[in-house]
This record gives sequence, C-alpha cells and structure tokens, in this order.
Amino acid sequence: MPKDIFVFVELKEGTVRKVSLELLSKGKEIADCFSSTLYAVLIGHDVKGIATSIQPYSDKVIVVENEGLADYRWDTYTGVFEALLGKYKPYTVLGGSTITGKDLFPRLAARSGGAIVSDAVGIDLHNGGVKIKKPLFGGKVISWVTCSDDSVIFITFRPNSFGVEKRSLNGEVIEEKVEAPKDPKMNLLGAEKHVSEAVDLQEADFIICGGRGMKGPENFQILEEIAGIMGGRVGASRAVVDSKWREYEDQVGKSGKTVSPKLYIGCGVSGALHHTMGMDTSKAIVAINKDPNAPIFHYADYGIVDDAFVILPALREALKKTKEEI
Ligand SMILES: Cc1cc2nc3c(=O)[nH]c(=O)nc-3n(C[C@H](O)[C@H](O)[C@H](O)COP(=O)(O)OP(=O)(O)OC[C@H]3O[C@@H](n4cnc5c(N)ncnc54)[C@H](O)[C@@H]3O)c2cc1C
Repeated sequence: MPKDIFVFVELKEGTVRKVSLELLSKGKEIADCFSSTLYAVLIGHDVKGIATSIQPYSDKVIVVENEGLADYRWDTYTGVFEALLGKYKPYTVLGGSTITGKDLFPRLAARSGGAIVSDAVGIDLHNGGVKIKKPLFGGKVISWVTCSDDSVIFITFRPNSFGVEKRSLNGEVIEEKVEAPKDPKMNLLGAEKHVSEAVDLQEADFIICGGRGMKGPENFQILEEIAGIMGGRVGASRAVVDSKWREYEDQVGKSGKTVSPKLYIGCGVSGALHHTMGMDTSKAIVAINKDPNAPIFHYADYGIVDDAFVILPALREALKKTKEEI
C-alpha cells in the first residue's frame, strides 16, 4: 500500500498561505522517502489559477471547485474531504495549525476514525512510518508521537515549522467533482475585511511582543517602529489585550495565536505558561525584562535584564543605522 501524502492547501484572500507551501515542501521530502505521491488538495471556487501556482511543489494537485466552496465552512469542506479520503486513501493528511486547520482536522479525524496530532512542529521517519514532534506543557516537554498504520493520520503543524523549498515539479492537475451538501448547516451572511498592511502574525518571521511591562498602549509605538524596520509584526500578551491596549488579533498564546517566527523578542512579558505555549517554538527568543527571575528567561536564547524603556530606543537606533549601512 503506497504511503501517499495529502496537504490541505489553505487560501487567504485568493493566495496560498505560506504554511501550506511549507507543508508541501516537507511533504515532498517524506513522499520521496516512501516512494509515494504528494497530493496538494485545493478546495474553493475559481481556483484553477491557484492550482497552477502550486504545481511546482507537488506531484499531483487535486482541485475541487464550485460556488458553494468559495468560503471555508466546516460542513461543506468536511464533506468534500471525506469523499477524497475514501477515493485516494492517503497515509497522512497535513495542514496548518491555523483557525481553519484547527476546525477542520479534528472533524476529519472523527469522521474517518483516524488519528490526530495537533500543533506539531516536526516530523521524521520511524520504522517505515512517521513520528511527529509535538511540544507539551508549554514546550517544557517535547514528545515524539507515532500512530498505528491502519488509520489515516491527520496532523496540523504550527506555521514556520519548516522552510519553503520550491521544486521544479509539474504536478498533474486532477479535477474532482464533489457535490457540496445540499442542505448546508451554516451559511455565510457576509464578511467584513479588516484592512491591515502588516504581515500576518502567524506568518511573520519577526515578532516583537509587548507585555504589561510596556505600561500603556502609547508605548507600543516603538515596537511598531522596530517591527517596521525588521519587516515583522507586533504581538501582545493577553494582559495587554485584556487591557484593550492592543487588538485580539495580536495576541500570542494559548487563547491567542501560536507563532513560530525566526526571531521573537518579548518586552515586558513575564513568560507565563499560557503565553509561552504560543511562542516557545520560535527559532530564536530574546527576552527584555527587568526582573531576573521572570519565567521568560527559561525560554530565552538571549536575555536582557534591564528596563525595556532603556533598551528599546537603543535597539531602534542600532537597527536604523544597520539598515542605512546595508
Ligand atoms: C485559560 C487562560 C488562557 C490564557 N491565554 C493567554 C494567551 O493566549 N496569551 C497570554 O499572553 N496570556 C494568556 N493567559 C494569561 C497568562 O497566564 C498571563 O497572565 C499573561 O500572559 C501575563 O501577561 P504579561 O506577561 O504581559 O503580564 P505580567 O505577568 O504582569 O508581566 C509583566 C512583566 O513585565 C515586566 N516589566 C515591568 N516593567 C518593565 C520594564 N519597564 N521593563 C522590562 N520589563 C518590565 C515585569 O517584570 C513582568 O515580568 C491566559 C490565562 C488563562 C487562565
């Protein structure tokens, strides 16, 4: 039985999310080891152009499109996926640990009787199958999980867990006709677009995160400036969001977003477990906190025990100067 791999290709405003490209890159590596096929699964409306853009990343691109699939809805997408799973019988299905992935994947696992591993950060080969790397207890423990081979394995990965490697494949596009359920349980009445120039928090390579130690909303301006220089995003702890200093969309942590940037800088963030659960897999962590006993220092690769209001202006100036010199 071939160990074929499905990657759910997630779209955001008509473009493929970076996490999907990361998973296609990693998925191809694994498919090659198994001598199996990597399928990109693209569901939506008017998505044939998008299919072309992912052909270089996958062996085959399955496209299911019709008007009823224009927006993600759990009932329609689960129905479509179930039909594809029945026909193609993949070994594993990979998706992003995003709002959509977190909604869709447990449903698919429950309906198909499969196994699910959520919020993973790595995957490797193991005894002819795969083992999956998943942080537990806010990253204090790293577990490696295996699943029995007789059920399909659904895995959601945190964005930025893998790099994007563009290959020169020319994946065959397969159009599948799957009827959307006749009597949908949910109808989208409308969507309001929140216009933001900033890069998506979960896809940012650089995040500078402010905690209660930033003292007030006005002091986030310097974080914005630093994020601007670095081409990244400002994040916030829940204490900050609860105080209405920042919007919920900026919140990092258990009840906010899980992020994994190349560089995370926490400023006046204590490093409570519920916060670190959302950022502990960042590639490099820098903490600025005036309390040397703040838990964030247990997670930090570099720690600065000082007043953020002294360090941040110096950091901004140094970054500006470096940028001018490049
Ligand atoms: C169910 C549940 C879910 C939760 N989900 C989340 C979540 O998603 N995200 C999240 O962040 N939290 C979450 N929390 C809350 C979490 O437990 C903490 O309360 C919160 O993260 C604390 O935010 P903070 O670090 O900004 O504030 P504090 O804990 O108040 O820490 C402020 C820090 O700033 C430092 N500081 C003060 N002044 C300065 C200065 N001038 N310079 C440098 N450092 C300074 C202090 O030393 C301190 O360490 C959740 C809690 C629960 C119960």
